Amino acid sequence: MAMQRNNNNNRNKDKDKFRRRKKVYHRRKVCRFCADSSLVIDYKDPKVLSGFVTERGKIIPSRISGTCNKHQRTLSLAIKRARTIALMPYVGRVD
Ligand SMILES: [Zn+2]
Repeated sequence: MAMQRNNNNNRNKDKDKFRRRKKVYHRRKVCRFCADSSLVIDYKDPKVLSGFVTERGKIIPSRISGTCNKHQRTLSLAIKRARTIALMPYVGRVD
């Protein structure tokens, strides 16, 4: 009985060794508008906005660009405004 329990413990230890995860370092994404106060979201400024849309003209999601909630909302509003006055494309280049 005692032997069996020992065996089980050893087996678990071995499993734990394999299960130990490699250290994954991921870079913390920082909202560009929070980091740089000189960068202002303005619907009349397509130069800034174009950095946050894909080639096809879609708005890049915040989980990819790292933009914070507050700025993503103002950004998407600005992009949509810029689209209506034809500063930004609704659909970018389509092959
Ligand atoms: Zn922000």
